[in-house]
Amino acid sequence: MSFWDRIKPTERPVSATEVTLSPDNTRLSLVWEDGVKTGTTAQVLRQQCPCAGCVDEWTNKRTLDPARVAADVRITQLQPVGNYALTFVFSDGHGTGIYPWKLLRELTQP
Ligand SMILES: [Zn+2]
Repeated sequence: MSFWDRIKPTERPVSATEVTLSPDNTRLSLVWEDGVKTGTTAQVLRQQCPCAGCVDEWTNKRTLDPARVAADVRITQLQPVGNYALTFVFSDGHGTGIYPWKLLRELTQP
């Protein structure tokens, strides 16, 4: 085994093969390539937005107050970012967060 083989990451992050929004756009459902099905609400995704406007880049502290996210917030747009992440536009107009698969797996529940 060469040096380069040993430092290569052995595990790549699991990604979702199916991404669906509920008809009212308030829930996201994911089917992962390992067969696990998870889901969460648009509200949770909006509250956990990882963008620089919601999380302080230096301290990693969340600057967005989760209580200010409306319970009926919806996902108005959903787009893949390469093959590693998804990005959402929410009904409150916010759309700068990039959600890597790893984060989505953490935020969603079976
Ligand atoms: Zn944000």
